[in-house]
Amino acid sequence: MTAAEGHALMDPLPRVSGLFLLLMSACAAPDAQDSTAGQPYVLVLGSAQDGGLPQIGCQQDLCKQARRDPSMRRMVSSLLLVDPRNKKRWLIDATPDLPEQLELANQHAPRPMEQGRPPLFDGVFLTHAHMGHYTGLMYLGREVYGSDRTKVWCSRRMANFLQDNGPWKLLVEEDHIQVETLVLGQELELATDLGVTAFQVPHRDEFSDTLGFRIEGPSKTLIFIPDIDKWSQFDGDIELMIEGADHALLDGTFFADGEIPGRAMADIPHPFIEESLDRFSAMPARERLKIQFIHLNHTNPATDPEGDAAATITAAGCGIASDGQVIEL
Ligand SMILES: [Zn+2]
Ligand SMILES: [Zn+2]
Repeated sequence: MTAAEGHALMDPLPRVSGLFLLLMSACAAPDAQDSTAGQPYVLVLGSAQDGGLPQIGCQQDLCKQARRDPSMRRMVSSLLLVDPRNKKRWLIDATPDLPEQLELANQHAPRPMEQGRPPLFDGVFLTHAHMGHYTGLMYLGREVYGSDRTKVWCSRRMANFLQDNGPWKLLVEEDHIQVETLVLGQELELATDLGVTAFQVPHRDEFSDTLGFRIEGPSKTLIFIPDIDKWSQFDGDIELMIEGADHALLDGTFFADGEIPGRAMADIPHPFIEESLDRFSAMPARERLKIQFIHLNHTNPATDPEGDAAATITAAGCGIASDGQVIEL
């Protein structure tokens, strides 16, 4: 596994000077070459909870720090699945940060130059209908890119939600997106040795149910569960899934109970990282090494790589996903 930080790309582009962009493209060039030369890989486009870091209106230290220091920023949780062999790329969750995330995607896995408005992605996979995970679809509509029948893979309930409710149904009716239903437990083949399998995850289901994804490449397999209520409610066997994979990007929304002052955390259940570390401590070290926490809330002290929470995670043999990180498949 190689990790590349995409720090400078997290600064909103309009504020970035030309010289800075030039320097950054020079810095990013070796990475881009490495990434596009070989086997399929996953690029982490974002590692924060739906509201990102810093979060709107937030005056706590982690948010203030992230406003001062762009390297502390985290975009909303999202992955890019890339197959450099046939120059294809798929988006996994479409976030409100999509414009910046597309820039990051283009640095690593540029599309072949084409006239007009070529598809930005060969498809989009969606986990569920919470704002951080699908509202990026708005950029594919008439007001912005106006994409042509971009395939959007999701659960049946999510598909119905998009097809039946404005403004999303306009994307469908005007052929900007083409909604496709995933069959749970059945691999969708993207290449002979690359596929995505969806599975059900328990999570607050106001508008849609929630999926996790298992991405199987030529050499490695990755599981992605950015949002889940509690491990004890999961029908699948998370330990078995980790054993059967090489990488596990798992819900790390909150580090510990009491993290959000004045708000009942039982209303927004997630496995606290402390709980996950405790649960997974029964697994051998080689299994724990596969685990990286993603979807970190702006209140989560583990967002600071130099902090005590991050040190606790590392000491437990696990890791924290970062924007710009590359995971080979
Ligand atoms: Zn979320
Ligand atoms: Zn959610």
